[in-house]
Amino acid sequence: MNRTLIAAGNWKMHKTIGEASAYAEAFLARMREFQGLEVVICPPFTALPVLRDQFYQTPVRLGAQNVHWEIQGAFTGEISAPMLQELGCRYVIVGHSERRHIFRETSEEVGWKVKTLCSFHLSPILCVGETLSEREAGKTREVVQEQLLQGVAHLTPEEAQSLVIAYEPVWAIGTGRASTPQDAEEVIRFIREELASRFGQEVASGIRILYGGSVAPENVFDFVVQENIDGTLVGGASLDPGKFLKIVEETERAFLRKSGGA
Ligand code: PEP
Repeated sequence: MNRTLIAAGNWKMHKTIGEASAYAEAFLARMREFQGLEVVICPPFTALPVLRDQFYQTPVRLGAQNVHWEIQGAFTGEISAPMLQELGCRYVIVGHSERRHIFRETSEEVGWKVKTLCSFHLSPILCVGETLSEREAGKTREVVQEQLLQGVAHLTPEEAQSLVIAYEPVWAIGTGRASTPQDAEEVIRFIREELASRFGQEVASGIRILYGGSVAPENVFDFVVQENIDGTLVGGASLDPGKFLKIVEETERAFLRKSGGA
């Protein structure tokens, strides 16, 4: 199955509106149509309106970094799916390890967020991944399975078609110590098998599964060229337009290799 690849940037809590706008200008100046992939940028909420305008009628898609599972109400400081839809988002990251560990988000809450996003036709980028101690205790599959199955607990097979999963080992995030492509492929193949048991082979083979954790222009090709890895979720290296563009170019090169070309 040919899956459209994704190069997604997660800016986290970086860039003011002015900085985001300058980035978009620099990025678009060197942007062209890329084959076989989608480029997604997930800025802070405050930069969404300006980027929606700057990326209008370009191949760059917008994503957000979080959402609440309710669509309105007394939830001070939160943002809803219809609000993000109105701001032009196509994707929303949920269950990022920083949200799970710093803000104590549970897999159950993540599951409700995923459900709400799908009912608003927003694609969740559902992050799963083990900590170093869990990996060392041989619990990688157990942890990933729990986060994954609770994350998709309320979805129908039809809704699951818009899902994107990001496998992000916590020990690899922001550390400069990426997983090996082979280890990432192995966990991601396991994720696809779990999705197949839950939603059927056909749906599972269409779901994009990304790798995230210290992705850089130098290593992205080796990840994306793996059979089950459909792109990357990039933190630090997405903050620099030149580096992120290089990641996009390398993702296209991996697409061409996978589709039997160069
Ligand atoms: C992330 O935060 O999702 C991430 C993968 O960060 P980094 O690329 O900096 O490791």
